[in-house]
Amino acid sequence: MKRKTGQDRSVTRNWRPATIAVRGGTARSEWGETSEALFLTSGYTYDKAADAAARFAGEQKGMTYSRLQNPTVEMLEERIALMEGAEACRAMATGMAAMTAALLCQLSAGDHLVGARAAFGSCRWLTDTLLPRFGIETTIVDGRDTDAWKRAVKPNTKVFFFETPANPTMDIVDVRAVCDIAHDAGAVAVVDNAFATPVLQRPMEMGADIVAYSATKMMDGQGRVLAGAVAGSEEFIEKTLLAFTRNTGPNLSPFNAWVVLKGLETLDLRMRRQCENAVKVASFLESRVPRLNYPGLPSHPQHELAMRQMEAGGPIFSLYVDGGRAQAHALLDALELVDISNNIGDSRSLMTHPASTTHAGLSPEVREEMGVTEGMLRLNVGLEDPEDVIADFDQALAKAGL
Ligand SMILES: *Cc1c(COP(=O)(O)O)cnc(C)c1O
Repeated sequence: MKRKTGQDRSVTRNWRPATIAVRGGTARSEWGETSEALFLTSGYTYDKAADAAARFAGEQKGMTYSRLQNPTVEMLEERIALMEGAEACRAMATGMAAMTAALLCQLSAGDHLVGARAAFGSCRWLTDTLLPRFGIETTIVDGRDTDAWKRAVKPNTKVFFFETPANPTMDIVDVRAVCDIAHDAGAVAVVDNAFATPVLQRPMEMGADIVAYSATKMMDGQGRVLAGAVAGSEEFIEKTLLAFTRNTGPNLSPFNAWVVLKGLETLDLRMRRQCENAVKVASFLESRVPRLNYPGLPSHPQHELAMRQMEAGGPIFSLYVDGGRAQAHALLDALELVDISNNIGDSRSLMTHPASTTHAGLSPEVREEMGVTEGMLRLNVGLEDPEDVIADFDQALAKAGL
């Protein structure tokens, strides 16, 4: 496997993001294939026994086993690292494998984590259920309240963990201010950037130490595979994360890595078009429902902050109807084009009722506190002509009595 002459890190890291998304990390086999090769192999062979020994000793470059290295997966890792502006990246089987590894690899019994209240349901399960079971203390704060992060700090605080925009309330965390507080406390800031992707938001430039992804969402972008990634410093990836992932095995399959590599080629295009479509659909829906949370519209209480740290509002937003679960379900059932689906980051427009799906596992009190009410719906705006999506909502809203 080799890079095109002159395309080492010193050159590729200076490429602009859209170029990196198409070409970053590409290495070619002896056949000189244009598109990235897919290496479906679990193991590797050696010419001589001494080569095997040298590779295991770390004295010879090369692959040993696909839980440790795979050429297709490494291309994806290099591409995401470059896109993120990170020194290194490790791909994972899913977004949740990425979040779990990013937290567990650096926390021990007796440590303390501060996390944001509004979060993906499984991320809240990690902070509320899994970590405490291993003696890791957690404090949950309203991520929008920057002072609350400062107040939550304890002498044993090791990690701050948040996503922004947050699923599904679209709360915005002031990335720079909260990362500064983490660093003043001697803690590390882990940011889940799944909703924005490096196209819209670059947390490392605002002080994040580690950026973790569900690549299942916008990075694949076409609803095909599950994937995740953790990006950070060389030191963190090599010394802290690698030991954890190599020995616990939440690896990304080469096939899924290849699919995400193809997805990344169009990430910049898709992201920008889906944001434009989302503004149109949200502007229409805003006039028909009591309340809507879209960081890309001035009606969002944190619109200014969102636009300071993001290039656009993203493809996802949530809205509320007054008639609780019955009216929310009636609206979903009346949709003819938009699918009822709990996935996001797809090129198709998809809508779900978080209280009965993605956030059903949380207690009603936690849901209420997060703002996930019975009348809330979350929408991912896809790549369809937005006028068709608007027309579908127009008829479905009428059927649901809105
Ligand atoms: C989907 C999602 C995850 C989990 O990712 P999977 O790939 O489904 O495991 C984590 N965080 C956020 C913000 C997500 O949207």
